[in-house]
Amino acid sequence: MRHVRGMLAALALCAGLAAHAGEPAISGGVFHVTPVRPVAQLLPLALAATPPVESGDFRPADLVELTALDPTIRLDIRYATSNNFLGTPVYSQARAFLQRPAAEALVRVQRSLAREGYGVLVHDGYRPWYVTRIFWDAMPPELHKYVADPAEGSRHNRGCAVDLTLYDLRSGRAVEMPSVYDEPTERAWPTYAGGTSEQRRMRDLLRHHMEAEGFSVYEFEWWHFDYRDWKAYRIGNVRFEDLGAGH
Ligand SMILES: [Zn+2]
Repeated sequence: MRHVRGMLAALALCAGLAAHAGEPAISGGVFHVTPVRPVAQLLPLALAATPPVESGDFRPADLVELTALDPTIRLDIRYATSNNFLGTPVYSQARAFLQRPAAEALVRVQRSLAREGYGVLVHDGYRPWYVTRIFWDAMPPELHKYVADPAEGSRHNRGCAVDLTLYDLRSGRAVEMPSVYDEPTERAWPTYAGGTSEQRRMRDLLRHHMEAEGFSVYEFEWWHFDYRDWKAYRIGNVRFEDLGAGH
């Protein structure tokens, strides 16, 4: 989903945006929407639809499964569960892919974080275009501002965007951040000054290590990072089912 505030409104990112009066329910930081039609009905329509045609020079896709590259990278793929804004799984497989240069950069992040006792816990990476289409079709029209327009695609479609947090290597548990994932409030902003000092320290530690390897944080979501090469890749629509391990 995308954020509607500010000049990045045209960009299609994760599921975050500012809360407004009269907007959908947010409980415990989580945004809930009732799909206008069941996802099971929208899926075949989205798979049959055609992504936007892009002109220009792009690199060939080279999507790599993150856990194949580094098994210590952990996953919590919310869109493969009911624990997401639609309350139902949209991915049929809990897997995460990035284009090879971004995936290799993330492995370097993982190694540098390990020296400080942390690892990365990935919520989402490459997102096939048809899933962006399902998000759009599932949303009531008055809420379309919350999701990426499939006519433009999402940065996740290009395979260089990753949503992630940290886990503690000793306990194996996710650390506490100033907001939960996909929380559409100011607490999600990487500049948010509230929360506890420890929550802000964890958020800033993640950002520091990601920036050192060429990722930049999205200004409204501490968990969303774009790799510097993201414009070099086309919108992708290959399903997870059609991507082999280590692909
Ligand atoms: Zn994202």
